[in-house]
Amino acid sequence: MKYIFVTGGVVSSLGKGLTAAALGALLELRGLKVRIQKFDPYLNVDPGTMSPFQHGEVYVLEDGAETDLDLGHYERFTSGKLSRLNSMSSGQIYESVIQKERRGAYLGNTVQVIPHVTNEIKERIYQSGKDVDVLITEIGGTTGDIEGLPFVEALRQFALEVGRNDCIFIHVTLVPFLQAAGELKTKPTQQSVAKLREIGIQPHIIACRCEHPLDADLRAKISLFCNVPVKAVVQAADVSSIYELPLALQKEGLDDLVIDLFGLGKTHPRAEKNIWHEIVRRIKNPANEVTIGVVGKYIELQDAYKSVYESITHGGIANNCKVNIVRIDAEDLEKKEGLRRLKNLDGILVPGGFGDRGTEGKIAAARYARENKIPYYGLCLGLQIAVIEFARNVLRLKDANSVEFDPETARPVINMMEEQKKITDKGATMRLGSYECAITPGTLAAKAYKQLNIRERHRHRFEVNNAYVGQLQRGGMLVSGINPRRNLVEIVEIKDHPWFLAVQFHPEFQSKPNHPHPLFAAFIGAAVRHAKGAKPSKKAARRRK
Ligand code: GLN
Repeated sequence: MKYIFVTGGVVSSLGKGLTAAALGALLELRGLKVRIQKFDPYLNVDPGTMSPFQHGEVYVLEDGAETDLDLGHYERFTSGKLSRLNSMSSGQIYESVIQKERRGAYLGNTVQVIPHVTNEIKERIYQSGKDVDVLITEIGGTTGDIEGLPFVEALRQFALEVGRNDCIFIHVTLVPFLQAAGELKTKPTQQSVAKLREIGIQPHIIACRCEHPLDADLRAKISLFCNVPVKAVVQAADVSSIYELPLALQKEGLDDLVIDLFGLGKTHPRAEKNIWHEIVRRIKNPANEVTIGVVGKYIELQDAYKSVYESITHGGIANNCKVNIVRIDAEDLEKKEGLRRLKNLDGILVPGGFGDRGTEGKIAAARYARENKIPYYGLCLGLQIAVIEFARNVLRLKDANSVEFDPETARPVINMMEEQKKITDKGATMRLGSYECAITPGTLAAKAYKQLNIRERHRHRFEVNNAYVGQLQRGGMLVSGINPRRNLVEIVEIKDHPWFLAVQFHPEFQSKPNHPHPLFAAFIGAAVRHAKGAKPSKKAARRRK
């Protein structure tokens, strides 16, 4: 059993998660069973209650754990499924230590950060690495943060326990380019490595994030000051697609370094074939091009709809198609002239969301897509929006709404799920995780999935109100997927439309570049047909003029 710890230096948002994920991918290619996990030093028990402004997307695992978006990268780059053991925060650690203290488990001892908190952290590392060859653990935050100290201390102790030969520390750091000086600067890296060494950790590998190539002199300097061999100074330069990262890091020899340090060279040589070449080739040589509008309320944030954007890219890979994503602020669509923004789109996607800000704009987007026969794809809230729109404008139930947006609505086409009504706590209390869905034969969903029994991940409190399902169906909305145990609506479609499909779950949590999710693939496929259909007819219209 081997352990890799990934720490970060100088600044946050360096892409430690992607580095860990890409390394995991490279080690899998060598035939190792890999798992990647994340430790976050904040005191929230999980990110489920945090605003997207604070934390970006909440990524949901199969077992219903609400986790950091980096777990999304881990699942997209490697093949194993993760569990709640693989996402740990200080909040969870302290919660567990305090519960033990209340039970009297510490037998009268004074409870302290060392050893009680650090023991708890180490215990979690042992548990979550049980059935794999390599466990990669990313430590959130930046080295030197006060709240991160117990984690780093626990790692030092852990390495002492299992032996330094079985543990590798990779420090991902920033080598900034100073415009005025016209050069890359290594001092911040030296200082953040010094901070690690103060605690007793000597990193084995320094991965340098830099906007310009790291030349031999700089590598030598970092090697000297940070006490690592020159070949262990690895450049992690910016890449145009994140899926190039495994190739870029392989070129820098990162996987060779790790394998050599672990002494696994003989049993795990570099594989002949590297699937990432094919993925990147498809991204870089598209045959088609489409433009998809994503209508949300956090469009200015890079990370709020991370998995959605990635899954759209995967849908592009499946169709050999370049996808331009236009992020549209739902509130802009609440004014009539705003609808012009939807004009040249080949597909409209409404992702998940909470609260009523922007919902009228999203409803306008769903209406536009339905009436103008533009492919529409709704995810979670995007399904609820589509149902409200259909009820209002097709069934003529003018005041149809979701109880979430108007608790007093006379037409609650979207209602709170029964079991949710008695819940008062906000943390980890939604309908979360993987549930089965039975698909109706002959539908768009059946065509995309090519099977009738599927499982998808959920995160919601509200649902289509079954009291309206009859009316919706008579009006031309089709329920193409239900949860067979509880008869909950999971997928809807519109019959008289080229491709209009919305789901109550989050397919974006199960898409990978090498296994694009079937619904994302089908949506982009429909967008390609829309783009092809739109072009000749535009020309024809011009000819007619
Ligand atoms: N707010 C809606 C609900 O709770 C949708 C949730 C979501 O989009 N994830 O049901």
